[in-house]
Parts: sequence; structure tokens; C-alpha cells
Amino acid sequence: MKYLIIFSLFFSLTIQSQDRFHLKAQRVFDGNEIHQNWSVHIEGEKIVYAGPTKSFRNSKLIDYGDHTILPGLIEGHSHILLHPYNETSWNDQVLKESYGERASRATNHLRASLMAGITTMRDLGSEGAGYLDVGMKISVEKGIIPGPRLLVAGPAIVATGSYGPKGFHEFVKVPLGAEEADGSNLMTVTRRQIGNGADIIKVYADYRWGPDNTARPTFSEDELRTIVETAKSSGRSTVAHASTAEAMKRAINAGVKTIEHGDEATKEVFDLMVEKGVALCPTIAAGLSISQYRGWKKGSQPEPQRVINKRKSFQLALERGVTISFGGDVGVFPHGENVLELELMTEYGMPNQEALKSATSVNAKLFGLNKLGQLKEGFLADIIIVKGNPLKNISALRNVEFVMKNGDIVKN
Ligand SMILES: [Zn+2]
Repeated sequence: MKYLIIFSLFFSLTIQSQDRFHLKAQRVFDGNEIHQNWSVHIEGEKIVYAGPTKSFRNSKLIDYGDHTILPGLIEGHSHILLHPYNETSWNDQVLKESYGERASRATNHLRASLMAGITTMRDLGSEGAGYLDVGMKISVEKGIIPGPRLLVAGPAIVATGSYGPKGFHEFVKVPLGAEEADGSNLMTVTRRQIGNGADIIKVYADYRWGPDNTARPTFSEDELRTIVETAKSSGRSTVAHASTAEAMKRAINAGVKTIEHGDEATKEVFDLMVEKGVALCPTIAAGLSISQYRGWKKGSQPEPQRVINKRKSFQLALERGVTISFGGDVGVFPHGENVLELELMTEYGMPNQEALKSATSVNAKLFGLNKLGQLKEGFLADIIIVKGNPLKNISALRNVEFVMKNGDIVKN
């Protein structure tokens, strides 16, 4: 690690508690574009200056040289209560791992995410762990454990009969990976999830419950609208898991904020997303990882159909101008490896700058985080410094050497 800390002439240890930092590096990506010879000044938890380098007295200079300063990354689709399926199948995680084990694992996942430069995460479903995500979020907020700030969904909502674990006879009661609801009780379930601490409502607009386990729509458009309107009235947005074109269409028309996955979208569906201002969280990394768990060797074997389809569908979304939210479904693959999604987004044709925006300013706007995602006066000091230039090579984001969250240095 190559960096220089110069204590300014007027610096005294007594102002440590009210730290003032002056960050410098060859490049600064402010959440929108890259600048040379810029610096960022932080007082307390806020950014007070981001612009052409100028000197500040009474502050600690941190100069990283040939590095890039960026806003802390905002992960759009994580599951802190899951770990990779090649370690333990999803069914076994839901059915056999205790809440104690799951919370312990989540503690490690949160630390790994923060150290990888993820300072905010939208966590989309506890997958059988009730409101443990709310508890993990509070633990981070209280400073009990390190981790990104969290926006959590709680258990998520599924249509009766659609979700797993499955394969038991009717007298065996198994804990489900999400909460069932339909027609008449959708309002109650949505409100209860909000009351129990959900920041977002996640709904499964389709699931693999069709013949031969194919994905088929679950809720009707009216049912989805009930969920969306109920959440909206409390100031919360709804996100929909949807792979089929029909479920996407229903969810978009019902007013969801983002579509998760979106594999089978047609040109018409993507155009509808653009028209209604709905973003796509493509989760390319999850599908790719699952194909690899099933034995596919990337690079040395031909791509499985699933991977080919995903690339085509992502490219179609780009072509139609759909807003892309960075979110890999991390948890299916290891926490802390979030950058894999950005690598795939750029490999499939998204310009690096657009991918960087997606992970910072775009996700901040989509998630209603008004003071995050940009390096700008008055914004919260969530800042990372990486070796190299992610605008040239997105994998530079794997070399996170400095992480600041809320003005506190958590990695240096
Ligand atoms: Zn997911």
C-alpha cells in the first residue's frame, strides 16, 4: 500500500474526534465523470469540497498517487443471509442452518462487503430468515459490527404455492424462503412487513412453478398494484423479481421501481420500462455463477444457453436505453466479490463509465439516497480509493485500498 499521510502544520491530535481529511489521488470519479488533479475535503461525516486541488489547513492529507477516488459503491441486489450455493444448496441453507449460524455468516458477509468498497447495499430478501436482515441492519447502525448501510426487504412476498423449499408431502410443514400472500391479505402482509422494519417491499412476480419448473407469472397485475400502492403510501418502493416477459409487464404496469433479473424480456417490455422509468437490475453474475457450479468452465467450454440468453437480453436492454442498476444477486456468489457483476456488465458491452455510474449515482437516485453516490459538497463521506484506473480497467475496483463510510476510515 503506497500512500502518504502528512500532518499539516496546524494539525493537533485534539481534533481527531472531529476529523478533517483531504484526499488526493491522480483521478477522482465524482459519480458522473472522471477528473484529473482534483481533491476531496471531508469534515466530520460530510464532504465539504470536491473539485480542482486546493489546499486546506488543519486537515490530514491522504495522498494516494496513481489511484482513483470514487464514491462508495452501492450494491443493488444482495442477500447477506445467503452464501454460495456450491458450498450449501439454497434448500439446505433455508432448512438446516439455524438463525444463529445465518446471523454469524451475515456478520462476515457484511464485513467482506464493506472491505470490498460497498458502503451501501440493498438487500432483497432474507430467504427464510424472517427479519434477521432488519436486526443485522440495526447492528451495523449501532456500530456493533462493521458493514455497509443497508436497505432491507425482510422476508419478501410470494404467491401461495409458488416458492420453495418444495418436495415434501402436504403434512410436512417447512419454513419457506419468503412470506406467502394473495388477493385479500396482500395489504395486511405488506403493511406488516413495513411495520417489522422492511425498507423496501420485494415481490416475486414470477417463479419457477410452471410445468417442468419453468418460470411463470404468479400474481395478477391487480394484486401487484395492491402491494405497490400499499408500500407507496408509506413512502416505500416495491421491487419485483421477474424473468418472464408477462410478469415483467404486469409488474411494470403496477408501478414497481426495479425489475430483478429480467432474462426473457422482449424489446416491447424494455421499451415499456423506459416509458415508465423502471430500471433493470440484471444479476448477470448470479446466473453465470450457477452455470459454473453446474460444471461449466468459462473460457474453455462453449457457453451454456442460459449464459448466451442473458448476454443477449442485457445487450437488448442497453440498446433500448433501459436504466441499469448495478446488482449481482451477491450471496449466490461470494460476498465481497460484488465487482464480478460490473466486470460482466462491461464485458457484455456497457461502457466503463456507465457501469461506474450505475454503481454510484444511478443506484443512489433509484434507491432515494439523496446524499450518496456522488462526491459533492454536502454529500455524506462514503468514499473509496482503488489502485489504477477503473475507467480503463473495471477490475481495478478489486484493488480497494481505502474505505471511508460516513467520514470514518474503515480501511486504510
Ligand atoms: Zn436475489
